[in-house]
Amino acid sequence: MKIMAVNAGSSSLKFQLLEMPEEKVITSGIVERIGNDNATFSIKFNGEKIEQELPVLNHKVAVELLFDALIKHNIISKLEEIEGVGHRVVQGGELFKDSSELTEENILKIESLNDLAPLHNPAHVVGIRAFKEALPNVFQIAVFDTTFHQTMPEENFLYATPYEWYTDYAVRKYGAHGTSHKFVSDRAAELLNKKDAKIIVCHLGNGASLSAVKNGKSIDTSMGLTPLEGIPMGTRSGNIDPAVFGLISEKTGKGISEILNDLNKKSGYLGVSGVSHDSRDIANEIEKGNHRAKLALDIQTKRIADYIGSYYVLLGGLDAIVFTAGIGENAANVRHDIIERVKVLGTELDPELNQLRGENEISKKGSKVKVFVIPTNEEVAIARDVLRLQK
Ligand code: AMP
Repeated sequence: MKIMAVNAGSSSLKFQLLEMPEEKVITSGIVERIGNDNATFSIKFNGEKIEQELPVLNHKVAVELLFDALIKHNIISKLEEIEGVGHRVVQGGELFKDSSELTEENILKIESLNDLAPLHNPAHVVGIRAFKEALPNVFQIAVFDTTFHQTMPEENFLYATPYEWYTDYAVRKYGAHGTSHKFVSDRAAELLNKKDAKIIVCHLGNGASLSAVKNGKSIDTSMGLTPLEGIPMGTRSGNIDPAVFGLISEKTGKGISEILNDLNKKSGYLGVSGVSHDSRDIANEIEKGNHRAKLALDIQTKRIADYIGSYYVLLGGLDAIVFTAGIGENAANVRHDIIERVKVLGTELDPELNQLRGENEISKKGSKVKVFVIPTNEEVAIARDVLRLQK
């Protein structure tokens, strides 16, 4: 059965067509700069990659382009071969506790959460509507970044702010990357052969978050109302004293949105190092002796270790730490620095295993807390949910 996983952003549309339940990728690609004359469309299939620059007016045109390409390149012979579509949606608020079928009612509910994810949810809905129009009879669902964290207890998700901020404006922690946290923690529990495992997931990509998972459920996570909370990232600051807003505004005359932009786009690795948001560049600069690049990484790994320590207490022990996403899967130096900082918990990294690629246990035999690298796969997780809900 062919199932498509879709991730629509404000000016992009990422897709992957999978053969399920085999979880085999048939084709994948992306339309970028939608709304521009110089949009790009790239599609990979049979080991081939085709790239094209062309005007793409809107998401509807992008979806048509994609379907035309699927037929033209004989990837499928007719659109009816696509039997299900799963759309990634960033914010499900408290309205969605699980992935859900995209009925008109649910699409309106997703729109009602626009205030909580103003950059993402409106763009998702544009993509969803374009797909619904093109494939009106196909089973389509939304898979939310937030639902996995909906199991957090109140004391973990509520801020100590005026209670009305929660009741009137839905201000609370929702978390993010839930699809990934669930995918890799489920896999880690399988590898541990322990259903009630206590696991800390470090999803370290350009955006990064940690979660504490017990009995397959998220009980805490580092991102908050928005992805700005938590650990420092490629360009995000993570936690800061909110009073910084007042001081910077007074000193520079910047307004809230400008300061938020600085905290989202000009902080983290980029802000501290002044060099790059990319962990590969940071590692190169550290090699060359760049103090601020080292500081950028040290601030991040220190904060990650803080979270691991606090989640250890919250979980009441720990079976495994799991690394995933671009940095977690590829940056052996970052993994090394983090495990070094938390070795008091009984983690011991095997330096040779830490250099391997792909899914691996990278802790030493006998390490009290195991350490895994588990590549995340949000598209497969989305396609699995389509299958589960279609039954
Ligand atoms: P993601 O957001 O999960 O796609 O992760 C993207 C980030 O992963 C990039 O910005 C890099 O910092 C990092 N990354 C990707 N590949 C590597 C690599 N081979 N070595 C170190 N870091 C990497």
